[in-house]
Amino acid sequence: MKTTNLVIGAGISGLTFANYSKEDYLIVEKEDTVGGYCRTFKRNGYVWDFAGHFFHFNTEEFKKNFLEKMPKKDIVYNDKVTKILYKGNFIDFPFQANIHQLEKEEFIDCLYDLFQKEEKKKYDNFLDMLYGKFGESIVEKFLKPYNEKLYATDLRNLDVDAMGRFFPYADKEAIIKNMKKNAINSYNGSFLYPKNGAESFIKILYDNLDKSKVLLQTSVTKIDTKKKIATLSNGEKVEYKHLINTMPLNHFLELIGGHKALLKEMSYNKVLVFNLGFDKPSPLCKKEHWIYIPDKKCNYYRAGFYNNILGDKKLSMYIEIGYGMNDVVDQKEINKQLKATLENLKKSGIINDDMKLVDHMALVMDPAYVHISTKTTKKIDELKKDLSKSGIYTIGRYGAWIYNSMEDSMLKAKELAEKL
Ligand SMILES: Cc1cc2nc3c(=O)[nH]c(=O)nc-3n(C[C@H](O)[C@H](O)[C@H](O)COP(=O)(O)OP(=O)(O)OC[C@H]3O[C@@H](n4cnc5c(N)ncnc54)[C@H](O)[C@@H]3O)c2cc1C
Repeated sequence: MKTTNLVIGAGISGLTFANYSKEDYLIVEKEDTVGGYCRTFKRNGYVWDFAGHFFHFNTEEFKKNFLEKMPKKDIVYNDKVTKILYKGNFIDFPFQANIHQLEKEEFIDCLYDLFQKEEKKKYDNFLDMLYGKFGESIVEKFLKPYNEKLYATDLRNLDVDAMGRFFPYADKEAIIKNMKKNAINSYNGSFLYPKNGAESFIKILYDNLDKSKVLLQTSVTKIDTKKKIATLSNGEKVEYKHLINTMPLNHFLELIGGHKALLKEMSYNKVLVFNLGFDKPSPLCKKEHWIYIPDKKCNYYRAGFYNNILGDKKLSMYIEIGYGMNDVVDQKEINKQLKATLENLKKSGIINDDMKLVDHMALVMDPAYVHISTKTTKKIDELKKDLSKSGIYTIGRYGAWIYNSMEDSMLKAKELAEKL
């Protein structure tokens, strides 16, 4: 077989690339369905994604394309309602901007440290930056425990700018102003969500393609970068001009061989997601879209409420639990975490004894968050330049090994398709 653009992966990046490609393409997807991490499961009246997958569009083009093809009644728009569950109370997110909502003593600790902190011109790592910008109390009460639960690593391993624009910075002035008037804007202040799940947008991208050019349940198993030939799991060989990779870069490097030193350096974490459907509403979380839980005694770091987003009554939620890249998340571990999750949900009052778990599912996102480090990023940038000389382009959140949103991935995919 021969194609101009061979695309590995039919997630949002691969599908967007094909939508904008002016040349011939072939998408190879290992799963039996398209969407990658942007897939939806509809069961027993519940609509579940891979944890929350919400769209915070900054560009009009993608938004317009989706909205034109979907009836208005199938979309919900929300100004986000996000809280931190801190010592049994809710305070608004982000923590650093809402310390005035804490008990008086804790508020004074945070405020005092915010004014006493020692700012540096240059920080060594993410944790160092947090202490320098926010002071000890804000870091130790929220930023450190929460991010340690999420990234499942020592925060000194992360780069100063590990979260890029996704980190809610706030200086002293903004924090003080916020005490009287909501003055902190975030990148995701509002979002839109299709009532039938994030996958509805994927369907629009997929339906626009020639489906005979999308091979499902087929993996790329070998790549000869010199001869420009990829071998597929069905034994077929595909000759390509350009290879567009969207599978995680660590696995892609294993496919093309070499790069052992870089592979050893690449670090990331996994996330175990539980989607849980109950028979009654939550007695506690009636309007929150998602909440953050810094308490290390609680196994999950974030919980989201699909029913509050969609305006449904019965509690339908997701739970996120962080793991290190080498941790094993097998069925025994999943069972243990489900038990701990239900106990912790009860302890915090999110569910009570009268509520029945009607349906649930577990998903492991591996990788979930790549750990950005300047040294590794520099090597990856050089590698991408090198690969492009052989007609290989590696894009998407995991293909490019970055921290970004679905829209960011779409923008890069479109840009590449137009360039090629
Ligand atoms: C917990 C969590 C929550 C998130 N929430 C949001 C959110 O609310 N909003 C947002 O904008 N973004 C969110 N994201 C980010 C979002 O998931 C990604 O940006 C996006 O899904 C990446 O899409 P992709 O196409 O680049 O990669 P993927 O979705 O990973 O697609 C890659 C595809 O490649 C396929 N593949 C892998 N190996 C092979 C092979 N050998 N051969 C063939 N195919 C292969 C896979 O099966 C997959 O379909 C979240 C991420 C996480 C971890």
